Amino acid sequence: MSTLNNNLVAVMGGTFDPVHHGHLRSALELQQLLGLSEVRLLPCHQPTHRDHPGADSQQRLTMLQLATENEPGLVVDPREVNLDQPSYSVYTLESMRRELGEGTVLCWVLGVDAFAAFTRWHQWQRILELANLIVITRPGFELDDSSAEYQLWQTQQIDHHTLSEHVSGKIIPVRLPSQLEISATYIREQLQVRQSARYLLPESVLNYLENQGLYRK
Ligand code: ATP
Repeated sequence: MSTLNNNLVAVMGGTFDPVHHGHLRSALELQQLLGLSEVRLLPCHQPTHRDHPGADSQQRLTMLQLATENEPGLVVDPREVNLDQPSYSVYTLESMRRELGEGTVLCWVLGVDAFAAFTRWHQWQRILELANLIVITRPGFELDDSSAEYQLWQTQQIDHHTLSEHVSGKIIPVRLPSQLEISATYIREQLQVRQSARYLLPESVLNYLENQGLYRK
């Protein structure tokens, strides 16, 4: 395991509707593999529509808090749901950078499939001024070698052992040991048809969503 550095922060955004063991296990593995001081779980703003039997922002936050309460390396960051409007990653990272200061290594976590469209993100160059990208690779997924993302991949890539030397601008490919095939969609579907979702997500989260009557039709 790498040496723990107090100024190494990674941010994993998502809907977390609900948070499950796929999210939690990958966040923990990232933290341990890269020696991060914390992985921030960042729920996005999402209005609840009547045809989507989802949780509201406060419930998604509560479930994240329950899931991480005994794991100090995983931290819930409520800034996007508190804004109560859709947020761009670049503005979220600007606000984090202001808080953390220039010397902190800040990383945005995304899957390689999302990275394949990264240069279509709003102000992507600015994102790279503010943060590194931790790209979770998948066996069999290749970037198009004529793409701008492939160029970035070739020129900006660093080995994760040197992460503490780069506060932003670099790409760190990471292959996680556990890839749990769990999705929030599947959990919601199971609950809608009154099947158990046990062992897919923490017991405390399951108890909470059952008490709240969440995801039932
Ligand atoms: P949904 O099924 O509602 O689309 P989801 O389970 O894919 O939800 P999100 O909230 O969209 O969860 O995901 C948040 C982040 O976690 C994303 O970066 C996503 O790629 C990642 N992620 C989702 N599922 C897993 C999993 N099983 N293992 C590792 N990472 C995951």
